[in-house]
Amino acid sequence: MLEAVSERLQSVLKKLRGEGHITERHLDEALGEIRRALLAADVALPVVKDFVARVREKALGQEVLTSLSPGQQITKIVHDELTRLLGGEAQPLRLKGFPAPIMLVGLQGTGKTTSAAKLALFIRQKLGKHVLLVPADTQRPAAREQLEQLGRQMGLPVLSTHGESSPEAIVRNALVEARRKGFEVVVVDTAGRLHVDEELMAELERVAEILQPSELFLVADAMTGQDAVRQAQAFGGRLKLTGVILTKLDGDARGGAALSVASITHVPVRFAGTGEKPGDFELFHPDRMASRILGMGDVLTLVEKAQEAFDAKKAAELERKLAKEGFDLEDFLEQLRELRKGGLFAAMMDLLPGVKKLKAQASPDERQLKRMEAIICSMTREERRRPEIINGSRRRRIARGAGTSVEEVNRLLRQWAQTKKLMRSMQGKDPRRVLRGLGL
Ligand code: GDP
Ligand code: MG
Repeated sequence: MLEAVSERLQSVLKKLRGEGHITERHLDEALGEIRRALLAADVALPVVKDFVARVREKALGQEVLTSLSPGQQITKIVHDELTRLLGGEAQPLRLKGFPAPIMLVGLQGTGKTTSAAKLALFIRQKLGKHVLLVPADTQRPAAREQLEQLGRQMGLPVLSTHGESSPEAIVRNALVEARRKGFEVVVVDTAGRLHVDEELMAELERVAEILQPSELFLVADAMTGQDAVRQAQAFGGRLKLTGVILTKLDGDARGGAALSVASITHVPVRFAGTGEKPGDFELFHPDRMASRILGMGDVLTLVEKAQEAFDAKKAAELERKLAKEGFDLEDFLEQLRELRKGGLFAAMMDLLPGVKKLKAQASPDERQLKRMEAIICSMTREERRRPEIINGSRRRRIARGAGTSVEEVNRLLRQWAQTKKLMRSMQGKDPRRVLRGLGL
């Protein structure tokens, strides 16, 4: 699926990754290629324009990661933008109400009936819910039989319509039956048309009014490209669509539909149909799709690397400080010295709640910092490593040695304990996030 666009994007980015240094001309050439690849994949022009502009802006702007080469950075940016284009984060199925109604709409032949059965199977297998299939397509003569056959094949119950001829009556009955028999979800197949028409829309509106579906999916055929986008606009104008089920992504679709539907209609693709078999159906993950388009292995490692985008040495150092079980007085001394230099530690400390105060306490001025150092320096090595042994007489000895009072020694020990607690509380946190927060 999406092979053509995938190949072209991959080759552009591969070329770029070979470059040690990327000039604006390189970038524009690459963006021109990306633009052509997307247009060739039948992605709508405004979407392409916006996409290219965003990648360009990001590539030239601040959102760059120092540990990646410029070419890798652009690949990462393209990946992120593709993910966004495809709808961002994957959304789980929303099931509200008892039963939770799910309604499928779409033109004839797009795969509604097949998708209704596949979705019901997905709900039963993946979510473990009792689900009832509801044949509310009263237009096509054999529509009910088709759903019944699929139901038999997948071992899923299908509501018997008892010769009811209106879809409204069928869905009303479905809700009653489902409640009575304990079905938690009903999946409703509806009639389609060759083209969008008023009669169909009015019928679907009435059905939706009765069902109050917790998910209302448009089923669209990926092979129809921009038509799928237009269908999403037309149906979306009348019904509160919550998502698109994009079928036939296994075919030689150019991918334009998948790539433009979400950004044009603001209705995300939620599921993908990838074949004729019951199991050829999956939750649509924009980020995975983006990775697939850009060449899975390659990009995933790159994205991982980008997520770890930080200077390995600094991270190791920070990690050591954060993860160290015993943050002893020697470490504290080291940090106090760092604090004076205004280094990484100092910057990091500013990020933590309550630390500004502690820092103000810990480093009010050069004089006090020196006194703190002096106190630690007049301790024995054993005392610095195991501060818990510092009792009353040791405190007096240390105070004398540092030319200060026992109160001062006590204060320093309190400050050390506070800092240690802080370091502990930071341990669960991802140091990478801290570093990113610091702009490193
Ligand atoms: P409806 O008219 O919208 O209800 O469409 P159907 O469910 O009857 O499907 C029309 C045709 O598309 C059938 O032959 C299905 O087997 C086929 N179909 C549906 N989904 C997919 C898919 O994801 N991949 C492929 N290859 N065929 C599909
Ligand atoms: Mg059908």
